[in-house]
Amino acid sequence: MSRPIDYLIIGQGLAGSLLAWELISRNHSVMVVDPEHNNASKIAAGIINPIAGMRFVLADEIERLLPAARQLYQHLADVFHHEVFVATPMLRLLPNEVAYQHVQQRLTQAPYQGYFSDCARGHALADFQSYAYAYQQHTGYVLLPKLLASIKSFLCQRDSYLSAHVDYSSLQITPQLRWQNFTPKHVIFCEGYLGAENPWFSWLPFQLAKGEILSLRHDREQPKTIINYGHWALPLQSQHLRVGATFSHQCLNTLPTAAAKEALLHALRTVNAHVDTFTCLQHDAHIRPCTRDKQPFLGRHPHHSQLLIFNGFGAKGSLYMPWYAQQFAKAVTQHTAFPADIQRFYDRHFPC
Ligand SMILES: Cc1cc2nc3c(=O)[nH]c(=O)nc-3n(C[C@H](O)[C@H](O)[C@H](O)COP(=O)(O)OP(=O)(O)OC[C@H]3O[C@@H](n4cnc5c(N)ncnc54)[C@H](O)[C@@H]3O)c2cc1C
Repeated sequence: MSRPIDYLIIGQGLAGSLLAWELISRNHSVMVVDPEHNNASKIAAGIINPIAGMRFVLADEIERLLPAARQLYQHLADVFHHEVFVATPMLRLLPNEVAYQHVQQRLTQAPYQGYFSDCARGHALADFQSYAYAYQQHTGYVLLPKLLASIKSFLCQRDSYLSAHVDYSSLQITPQLRWQNFTPKHVIFCEGYLGAENPWFSWLPFQLAKGEILSLRHDREQPKTIINYGHWALPLQSQHLRVGATFSHQCLNTLPTAAAKEALLHALRTVNAHVDTFTCLQHDAHIRPCTRDKQPFLGRHPHHSQLLIFNGFGAKGSLYMPWYAQQFAKAVTQHTAFPADIQRFYDRHFPC
């Protein structure tokens, strides 16, 4: 007996989870399939930071992305009865006068109003040294493992979740889509970095980046803010601190390395004198689905329009995915245009 569904979603990282949520909210039927291995979403810190790098550049389209993210995470918190997004300022430790002047300049620019406060020379905190500092607002972090677990239970209750790996050869494309006993109208690939190996979408210009992250225990009082010193430290409850993340296009595997651990501890040591009293509890590594043009990959396969992709959110999934998931769901259900449509690569990258 075949089971007709609207969408077969492959992958339950943050991308597959939020997209499934949006499609179900629009009364469409989905089946989400995931093998339940570790993934980038489970180990990521989930930090939302609208201002990137030491030039302090505001993300494009932030006026859409941030309200969509806040609204969706609050809605999910209400539905699941637990906190999803923890709003907390970010303390930027500025290493020199040049960085301090950059922030001073931003303070005078209209788009940056409200994003910075308290910029001054000197230390903001006893344990963290810096030449100068600035506080950023509209920052915080998503409690990703908890959110993914809640969305998975929600899907299970609706009989819309299967723990399995989808072998590409088991997916029938013609005369109609079929996988196992499911006959979906569409298949949406939300596979994170494994999308780069997908036979229908591997022609897209992925630029994967490995990231490593540490969980540390300490016995010192830590601030409530996220601390950003090029890398970041995220104080959690029970004297835990998450520290990350490395970023490398080399050795694209999910194995933690001694070199990355030392690099993260070394960077922390340059701003905090107590690092050698901290204990490392956990060390994780995974791969970010970054893209060469820094835009996500949304849209349809050029020959098989019932095969779609929602991927390529790189290092910023927590901020970008809520708005893009809404737009993607709108595009497939109401036939509007996809933002960041992969059509931009049809001519140059798709093999004829
Ligand atoms: C160390 C590190 C720190 C990070 N920190 C942050 C941060 O602070 N803030 C932020 O916004 N982002 C951060 N990121 C990036 C973030 O992790 C990604 O943007 C996001 O998690 C990607 O989600 P995804 O759903 O696309 O991929 P994933 O979370 O990797 O999920 C893909 C899923 O698809 C499944 N899958 C793949 N192939 C198949 C198949 N054939 N059949 C069935 N299932 C399949 C996989 O098993 C997996 O569960 C970080 C990443 C790393 C590595």
